[in-house]
Amino acid sequence: MTSIVLITGASRGIGAATALLAARHGWDVAVNYSSNEAAAHTVVQAVQALGRRAIAVQADVADEAQVLAMFARIDQELGRLGALVNNAGVVDRAQRLQDMDMARWRRMFDTNVLGSFLCAREAVRRMSTAEGGAGGSIVNVSSRAACLGSANQYVDYAASKAAIDTMTLGLAHEVAAQGIRVNGVRPGLIETDIHASGGQPDRVQRLSAGVPLGRGGTADEIAQAIYWLMSDLSSYCTGSFIDAGGGR
Ligand code: NAD
Repeated sequence: MTSIVLITGASRGIGAATALLAARHGWDVAVNYSSNEAAAHTVVQAVQALGRRAIAVQADVADEAQVLAMFARIDQELGRLGALVNNAGVVDRAQRLQDMDMARWRRMFDTNVLGSFLCAREAVRRMSTAEGGAGGSIVNVSSRAACLGSANQYVDYAASKAAIDTMTLGLAHEVAAQGIRVNGVRPGLIETDIHASGGQPDRVQRLSAGVPLGRGGTADEIAQAIYWLMSDLSSYCTGSFIDAGGGR
């Protein structure tokens, strides 16, 4: 497989940390972003400063036309993709399921599930050794919420991440003979801006006492798990998951 990776939602947080770690290990990076172009360019410049090629590619991962255009640009400007990290994800404000509306549920599944599906499909089409590709690796970023359910807060989010886990398992078996590995990372409470987006900027501090390791994790710690699964370091793993939740 080539050393070219597409990381979705890579303008900040876990995605940006993964972009920089991959670059340090010699990978060229396509930095996907939905709206924050300036932040994406900062990540691109940081990758380039490490001596690797990088491009910022705008696409809402839930929009099929934008995803197709993103992959076409990567084909042209970077070359054949060796890895995909499905990292883009959203969480909404804490709410009981009985109070949620359809728009919220749809937005959650459109971004987290449909977006991961569209990008995985385009990556497989390019990586498949059965179709002239050179094989590759896909890492889907899920959440410990998929196993915990997130009652009274984010049942929609937890359900969307569980859907991603099932897709990871099924796709792993489906494309193993085509030279593609598919694995998942389930982060726990990680210090990123996603908690502010979900209306709980202090969430990690409030809940860290309940984490067996006694603290929230960092984006860099999750990037290590993602990188291990996306690279040949994990060459005998497919359909596998790393639970990076500090024991939670
Ligand atoms: P973050 O909010 O910093 O990163 C998410 C990124 O996804 C952002 O850059 C956002 O712009 C992007 N994004 C959102 N919708 C998009 C769309 N439609 N198209 C393209 N990009 C889009 O948060 P993070 O913590 O770095 O999250 C990264 C991943 O890790 C997410 O999938 C999240 O669900 C998962 N995760 C995070 C935690 C945590 O505690 N931080 C825990 C478990 C799982």
